[in-house]
Amino acid sequence: MSKPLLLVLGDQLSSSLVTLRQAPDNAVVVLCEVADEASYVPHHSHKLGLFFAAMRHFAYQLRQQGFEVHYSNLDDADNCHSLIREAERLAQLYGCDEIRVTRPGEWRLYEAMLNRQTAELPWRLHEDDRFFTTPDDFSQWAEGRKLLRLEYFYREQRKRTGLLMEDNEPMGGQWNFDHDNREPIKGDLAFPTPPRHHYEKMTQAAFDAVKRHFLDHCLSDFGRYQDAISESSNFLFHSRLSAALNIGLLSPQEVCQAAEQRYLDEQAPINAVEGFIRQILGWREYVRGLYWTQMPDYKRRNSLGFERDLPAFYWDAKTDMHCLKRAVEMTMDNGYAHHIQRLMVTGNFALLCGVKPEALCDWYLAVYIDACEWVELPNTLGMVLHADGGQMGSKPYCASGKYINKMSDHCQHCRYSPNQVTGEKACPFNSLYWHFLEQHRGSLQQNPRMKLIYGSLDRMAPDKRSAIHQQAQQFLDQLETSTGYGQPHHTAGYTKETTS
Ligand SMILES: Cc1cc2nc3c(=O)[nH]c(=O)nc-3n(C[C@H](O)[C@H](O)[C@H](O)COP(=O)(O)OP(=O)(O)OC[C@H]3O[C@@H](n4cnc5c(N)ncnc54)[C@H](O)[C@@H]3O)c2cc1C
Ligand code: SF4
Repeated sequence: MSKPLLLVLGDQLSSSLVTLRQAPDNAVVVLCEVADEASYVPHHSHKLGLFFAAMRHFAYQLRQQGFEVHYSNLDDADNCHSLIREAERLAQLYGCDEIRVTRPGEWRLYEAMLNRQTAELPWRLHEDDRFFTTPDDFSQWAEGRKLLRLEYFYREQRKRTGLLMEDNEPMGGQWNFDHDNREPIKGDLAFPTPPRHHYEKMTQAAFDAVKRHFLDHCLSDFGRYQDAISESSNFLFHSRLSAALNIGLLSPQEVCQAAEQRYLDEQAPINAVEGFIRQILGWREYVRGLYWTQMPDYKRRNSLGFERDLPAFYWDAKTDMHCLKRAVEMTMDNGYAHHIQRLMVTGNFALLCGVKPEALCDWYLAVYIDACEWVELPNTLGMVLHADGGQMGSKPYCASGKYINKMSDHCQHCRYSPNQVTGEKACPFNSLYWHFLEQHRGSLQQNPRMKLIYGSLDRMAPDKRSAIHQQAQQFLDQLETSTGYGQPHHTAGYTKETTS
């Protein structure tokens, strides 16, 4: 009788994992902390802490359920520190004749496992069914479509799952309530105090509590302030569920059903619940489908030909641009920034400066506790840098300082003015914005969604355009960049104790 080794990866901590569901009695379950995976980008210490703490608790839970479990600890003297070699070493140690694993979240590992087949010790890969869709479902949906737009995918998903549907129609009479979800923060709005959790307690209990607290404290205002950015609140009304979802402690189905129930029980309005469900049932599934159907080529795309290294302040927050300083500080403190900070502050700045995709993607992968390549890469390369030539977004998410001023209270604390385009006090986002449009006119001008903005640029007086160009060029010439992530200062923000 075959004796399998079941390799469970750090983002597969779900009892419902297919390899665990189908485990024969003689299987040996293996979880490995290995240096290779912990260091191929300089992961934030909160991220590593979260993964390892959750893995250790999960191993404990599996043992309680009667599984035979081997846990390779980082400190074990015989640890190979490579996931593949460690699994093979353990297979030999326990006399296993095959290795079973659920599809990993990164192409790099997936390919390595596929290439590892030997007659004596085959690797068997199983589809990950913890999502609403499989990569094959996405391929079928994408087949024959010129444009893979989220909105159409999302509507299919609503119909397929029945979430927020009634008699085949969307609840509330509309698919999308985005127009209700663009309010900036005004006045003395009170933000919910995020619950604090300690990893020493049972991980599952902590994440159950996260879910409970979010639904009770944040959901009803999630939609309205979804795009807002605040000087004082790191989390606003965002759920902070991404890490728990991505490592498998929560399932997207249970989270969406719980949110739908809040609407049915009249505890949260439709715009909040629809907006929230669209993020998970729509965006999250959509980026995963895109990742698995477009890799490995996707990672090499750079349609706007960006070449700049990462600005050095992405590691140490040493910049006088206040919005960026706060976004990097919050990121380094919490391993978290909400979507609009990632997209419209750090992302927007990188886009306007032309930061090369591999440098920016490595940064996002390293600094956020929820970062797994299947979700990080399409968001960074596709949504932020428009490097996939518009596959993910119909136009680049570029914006000037005026947008940041409208959606946040950062500009009041900044030495720059969002209303000036040139001069010593001018917000750098402003000249960079027009400079970006000039630089990429060849690729972007024909885009129907960019027509209006190119019209404004073309109506500008030549001497104003030339002054803007000069201002932006000067800024870019003095922008300090870092060529790698081994630089001495980047670890400075990585040392805080993990409490949440
Ligand atoms: C450059 C960039 C990089 C990103 N990298 C990651 C990443 O590595 N991991 C990650 O989970 N998300 C990533 N996102 C998406 C999004 O920013 C985070 O999911 C969100 O900020 C997590 O916080 P939250 O749980 O409070 O989300 P909420 O705002 O409360 O949203 C609820 C849930 O919706 C899902 N979601 C929302 N937006 C997206 C999206 N665009 N793509 C996929 N899922 C989404 C998440 O699971 C999230 O938990 C990235 C976005 C950008 C612009
Ligand atoms: S003025 Fe410009 S740099 Fe300063 S906070 Fe506002 S948008 Fe950011």
